[in-house]
Amino acid sequence: MTTPHQGDPESTIDRALQQLRGALSGSLIEPQDLQYEDARRVWNGMVDLRPRAIARAGAVADIDAVLDAVRQSGLTLAVRGGGHNVAGHGTVEGGLVLDLGQLRNVTVDPQQQLVTVEPGATLAEVDAATTAHDLAVPFGVISATGVAGLTLGGGVGWLTRSYGLSLDNLQSADVVTAEGEHLHASREENTELFWGLRGGGGNFGVVSSFTFRARRLPASLLGGNLFYRPEHWEKALAAFGSWTRGLPEEMNPIISFLVLPPEFGMGGEPWMIIGFAWVSENHQAGLDLVQQLAVEAPPDEQEVGPVRWVEWQSAMDSVFPKGSRGYWKNLSFSRLDEEVIKVLVGFASEVTWHGTGIDIHHMEGAFGRVAEDATAFPTRSARYWLNVYGFWRDPEEDARLTAFARKAHALMRPFAEHGEYVNFLGAELPTGEEDAARQAYGQDKYQRLVAIKERYDPQNIFRLNHNISPGQGS
Ligand SMILES: Cc1cc2nc3c(=O)[nH]c(=O)nc-3n(C[C@H](O)[C@H](O)[C@H](O)COP(=O)(O)OP(=O)(O)OC[C@H]3O[C@@H](n4cnc5c(N)ncnc54)[C@H](O)[C@@H]3O)c2cc1C
Repeated sequence: MTTPHQGDPESTIDRALQQLRGALSGSLIEPQDLQYEDARRVWNGMVDLRPRAIARAGAVADIDAVLDAVRQSGLTLAVRGGGHNVAGHGTVEGGLVLDLGQLRNVTVDPQQQLVTVEPGATLAEVDAATTAHDLAVPFGVISATGVAGLTLGGGVGWLTRSYGLSLDNLQSADVVTAEGEHLHASREENTELFWGLRGGGGNFGVVSSFTFRARRLPASLLGGNLFYRPEHWEKALAAFGSWTRGLPEEMNPIISFLVLPPEFGMGGEPWMIIGFAWVSENHQAGLDLVQQLAVEAPPDEQEVGPVRWVEWQSAMDSVFPKGSRGYWKNLSFSRLDEEVIKVLVGFASEVTWHGTGIDIHHMEGAFGRVAEDATAFPTRSARYWLNVYGFWRDPEEDARLTAFARKAHALMRPFAEHGEYVNFLGAELPTGEEDAARQAYGQDKYQRLVAIKERYDPQNIFRLNHNISPGQGS
């Protein structure tokens, strides 16, 4: 074993970490500490990495201290909000994690309908604060997910057709850049940065505060699930294709192909579930609409009725516990004709196990009306999104279920439109991270993102993400 000496990289790292330990109002967790095993883990149990240290920020000033340490030590930085990133970007082997999970205050201004959120808050924490005012910010469907990563990539869920993505409702963000500048970004200030933050992920800095516009919700929504057995999937998909033409924006449907766990009482069999949230006080109009679909394709089982927003938002939480193993793929498409339905039903019928899900989100509505170039988000035009996602527990299944997600994606690829949703992408990308980001955003948006990257993070300190590489513009 060699002894570290002045000037060698190890002693530089040690010095930087020692200085960081003294500067943090939060804590620095290292491999010898008791909390390390828990602190190093993220949602995706397949991502089993051992950071050199984890800095738990206790205040915004700790972000500056961590960035100083990164600049001094050369350690690779991972930024973590809720830790749900499927590609595992919230941690790093041998590097430094900035864990923002203790910064989770949420402040609601009911008059202005504005909600200010610290970067470690989860969707559940924002929902708990807004629901008291009959308000909600459009987020994803599993309430343990982090607001930060979800918003910077997109944010699709039960309110997307009614009110757009999470990032469409972002009014402003406070950002700490790679050089330690504190910037406010909005439609009026640092506008190009604000454009890039809305879809460009964590590429440009650490967001220390998000301010959202919240939407007024009725005291109860109409929520429900229509359940179909495999022999009825083709018919139900065809009916869904017709039903979603000209569908009112109050209706937010998501199809899931799933084997549900025992507590759902649906047997251990595969179901196609057409779930929906009807966001209006007029429940009868929603019921009438659902009835039209049920007449075309009668469900084998159904549950439809008034639901409180927070209950609907957390109804599936238990299916996706931390430590689940996941590899996810996403694409968008517009055709739901016979040929596509056959392909979809072909691979969906193979899933006879609990641990892989396939979702089809119907988009359009308020989401689709946002101009393509208004944000960095990759694609607005397609009618549907496909998401193939894993949440299995057994490491022995890694190879088989990862291969299944890739296969399903490849089978749908011929029908795909441009753009992929970065928050639903797995880590292993056959063409490499840079090509994958270019492919996800498309050439024009990628070029614009590169210019923002070169301005705010030319050294690529924020590289653990679907990376926009400085100097890779053309
Ligand atoms: C069970 C589950 C359900 C999901 N459901 C949905 C859904 O319904 N809809 C949807 O749209 N997505 C969904 N997702 C995907 C989710 O949007 C992404 O995984 C997202 O990255 C999670 O954000 P996070 O803060 O929890 O993740 P983290 O792993 O903490 O962060 C992800 C990345 O975001 C960046 N980042 C985080 N915080 C900051 C910050 N403060 N400043 C700058 N960059 C930052 C970093 O690059 C980081 O690596 C789901 C994921 C899981 C695992």
